[in-house]
Amino acid sequence: WTEGTQADADNSLTELAALAETAGSQVLEGLIQRRNRPDPATYVGRGKVDDLGAVVLSTGADTVICDGELSPSQLRNLEQRTKVKVVDRTALILDIFAQHAKSKEGKAQVELAQLEYLLPRLRGWGETLSRQSGGSGRGGGAGGGVGLRGPGETKLETDRRRIRHRIARLRREIKGMKTVRQTKRARRTRNAVPAVAIAGYTNAGKSSLLNRLTGAGVLVENALFATLDPTTRKATTADGRLYTLSDTVGFVRHLPHQIVEAFRSTLEEVADSDLVVHVVDGTHPDPEEQVRAVREVLAEVGADRLPELLVVNKTDAANEDELLRLKRLWPDAVFVSARAGRGIDGLRAAIEARLPRPAVEVRAVLP
Ligand code: GDP
Repeated sequence: WTEGTQADADNSLTELAALAETAGSQVLEGLIQRRNRPDPATYVGRGKVDDLGAVVLSTGADTVICDGELSPSQLRNLEQRTKVKVVDRTALILDIFAQHAKSKEGKAQVELAQLEYLLPRLRGWGETLSRQSGGSGRGGGAGGGVGLRGPGETKLETDRRRIRHRIARLRREIKGMKTVRQTKRARRTRNAVPAVAIAGYTNAGKSSLLNRLTGAGVLVENALFATLDPTTRKATTADGRLYTLSDTVGFVRHLPHQIVEAFRSTLEEVADSDLVVHVVDGTHPDPEEQVRAVREVLAEVGADRLPELLVVNKTDAANEDELLRLKRLWPDAVFVSARAGRGIDGLRAAIEARLPRPAVEVRAVLP
């Protein structure tokens, strides 16, 4: 269902389809219903549920993905009526985060978010999307191993208890990891190595740009920072100054609150950076909306005070007129193509020009 315009709904659904494909699904058909608010029992209206059932039958789909967060009972009712697995936007996004989490802390945070999402919904879940990738599987914990499909009140209670147990343990572990990270952060501050955070909407090309910027050509030496998060790389300016570049978690519209909470501490690190490189996908139908959504999250963690360098990516694939429009809209932005390697030197120069000059260097030129 949607309360917005047709265009909003189309955009949102296109994004949902892209997210589903990112998670490894094949998207068969989209269904939109205009309503003032979701049906409390079945999310879409009762009549629409029958349409949905018909589409499931005719396409042979094994999953229905809804573009919003469903209550536990909506999820259960929809699964009963359509006879297939029902997943909402939140579960889908959590699943993608689970697939992409690389660091130990990231993995623990996603698992925690997944379990908190799962707990009130335990009964309604047959096969969950999250189960395919979720869970560290450590010690056969509640992550992926727990039997989520069993009805039976007793089993349900056992499952719930095990999940609560695991949640408590994950919280403790994350707290410990946070302390370690803060120590490293303090060390970085003492060393006065400028930090650049690459932020941007999911799929804007952050990882590709990070690779381009620190890959061939630049002096890259991962070993020194091997103890930091794997997505932090070091780079050196033309005049030999060291700085770090970090990929941040992707942003999407309606980022589930479980994820915002889980990643708050990681995102808060962005606020400690010296510069935010904000990557925008130049081929997206509504780049302004993406920029707005990312800035909103940055503001939430206090990173909106930082200098921001706007980078429009994918110029190789973007429409010429659209690029001209964006150049007028954002005159200070840098236009690049991570894929074609276009504009990368200019971007590097723009980043370096915005890095703070360390006090020691100023002292060095004084007589
Ligand atoms: P992230 O989610 O922001 O880290 O984005 P990725 O770096 O993973 O890129 C997302 C997708 O966009 C991938 O399929 C990339 O191959 C593609 N991509 C990245 N940069 C470019 C670019 O400059 N041009 C084109 N055409 N595609 C790109």
